[in-house]
Amino acid sequence: MDFLWSPWRSSYIDGFKEEQKEMQKSCFFCDAIKSINEDDERLIIAKKESYIILLNKFPYTSGHILIAPIRHIADYTELNNNELCDISIAIKESIYNLKKVMKPKGFNIGVNIGEVAGAGLPGHIHYHIVPRWQGDKNFMYVTGETNVISFANEDLLLKLRPLF
Ligand SMILES: [Zn+2]
Repeated sequence: MDFLWSPWRSSYIDGFKEEQKEMQKSCFFCDAIKSINEDDERLIIAKKESYIILLNKFPYTSGHILIAPIRHIADYTELNNNELCDISIAIKESIYNLKKVMKPKGFNIGVNIGEVAGAGLPGHIHYHIVPRWQGDKNFMYVTGETNVISFANEDLLLKLRPLF
């Protein structure tokens, strides 16, 4: 009965279980990507082939946009050239469209990679596009706090969606 002795099998099964566990953990971005007819409550602006773009429910300033690749990846180096290119264009469009709708005086654009760097959702990499106005707080200072919201997200969604 030699053929029943398969030591590789237990590590294979453990690996599979780990993978299953990993897949079962819910992810804010993956849930939004998979969602159907929940664009309003999830503040989704658009779902594209390689990324999703949405408004942050806990914005640093109003108009705070998040862009994440469709693939659940944590590391910037895992982004392929297509994703990098598409997301770069989406960042440019976000700046253009936010200027049109909200007339901010500046922007902060950034990616927090890893929990130690301040990533609130470290499993799924995402970009922050934060419009800035004279007199709002310093970007680093407001990180993690909710700021004064002067534009209602519902109105912003209606204005931003047709532009993307
Ligand atoms: Zn994800």
